Amino acid sequence: MAKTIYVDNAATTAMSDVAVEAMKPYMKGIYGNPSSLHSVGQKAREELEKAREAVAACIGANAREIYFTSGGSESDNQAIYSAAHNGAAKGKKHIISTNFEHHAVLHTLKKLEGEGFEVTLLPVDKDGLITAKQVEEAIRPDTALVTVMYANNEVGTILPVREIGAVCREKKVTFHTDAVQAVGHIPVDVEADNIDMLSLSAHKFHGPKGVGALYCRRNIPLRTFIEGGAQERGKRAGTENLAGICSMAAALQDAVNHMYENMAKEELMRDILIDGLSRIPHSKLNGDRVRRLPGNVNMCFEGIEGESLLLLLDAKGICASSGSACTSGSLDPSHVLLALGLPHEVAHGSLRLSLCPDNTEEEMRYIVEQVPKVVEYLRSISPVWEELEKGERPHLI
Ligand SMILES: *Cc1c(COP(=O)(O)O)cnc(C)c1O
Repeated sequence: MAKTIYVDNAATTAMSDVAVEAMKPYMKGIYGNPSSLHSVGQKAREELEKAREAVAACIGANAREIYFTSGGSESDNQAIYSAAHNGAAKGKKHIISTNFEHHAVLHTLKKLEGEGFEVTLLPVDKDGLITAKQVEEAIRPDTALVTVMYANNEVGTILPVREIGAVCREKKVTFHTDAVQAVGHIPVDVEADNIDMLSLSAHKFHGPKGVGALYCRRNIPLRTFIEGGAQERGKRAGTENLAGICSMAAALQDAVNHMYENMAKEELMRDILIDGLSRIPHSKLNGDRVRRLPGNVNMCFEGIEGESLLLLLDAKGICASSGSACTSGSLDPSHVLLALGLPHEVAHGSLRLSLCPDNTEEEMRYIVEQVPKVVEYLRSISPVWEELEKGERPHLI
């Protein structure tokens, strides 16, 4: 199999044909600035508002509640900043989240701690779940915000967002969710799910990179994060990325229109991988087996390093990711796997395979054939594995 097998769709996806086609008219034809009063600008404005309605409809929102941003990170930053400062204005400076959020959330919370906010990070259980009851018990009179991700980007766990949202609504606390891994992949509805603020990003559902949206419920004041012109009703300055926005809208509509067939396809392939790779001795599936994104597989293999596994798989044409591979080149294992309670040694040997509907069962069979060989080879040259096999140290999984 000479072709590259891309199974790193949680990192980013290829743009769909639909998304590419939807972008083209805006590169030359419809090039106006939506803020211009002339006809060229007004044509652009019309398309911008159509895209807003399309994105809103895909998540059960009203178009007036959608703000276009540069992606998931910016949406997370602005949502958390807004809710925190709305709270602070009323003397509420407590925020609740989990210990396995994306860094766009965790680092924003860290920054707010430096500004005098108090943050409670709820510990997820061994499968990467928290309960609405945990949230309820953590809420205080001075809680300004609860931010809990919809689905985890590393281990694929789907959190009980609807129940958490219900608790927040009852307690009158703003609820934000980083739904970057969920939107376009599983059904998301801001009304049914009791969500006040939501982040989404186009490049995670076969749209372009560098564009996303923030949903902010009508009654919640959104604070301006990027200052400048009056775009996005004064909440987010900068000339709109019209090509990106219209392409995102098309990609999302396409994803939502095919959601159930895509989910079924991914689940089938995911389960081939989980069943096949679970046969490797001293391996472990990370994340909940049932409450799981259709396209996510995350496993640990004892006695090996995730980075070595990735490089050898890459040489065999398989592009995957490892929880321990950090863009900063840090040797720390993933905070997500540690949050699940995995020991450092085990967390280092992780592999994430994230699928999209364009993957094939044939590719899954190739992966199931290759991964055990590579794991076996790495174990054969691993001093740690030798100690484990000799009984000089205990197996942890
Ligand atoms: C990718 C991702 C982000 C960041 O989105 P960008 O558009 O790349 O900024 C945030 N949260 C989660 C869960 C993600 O998977």
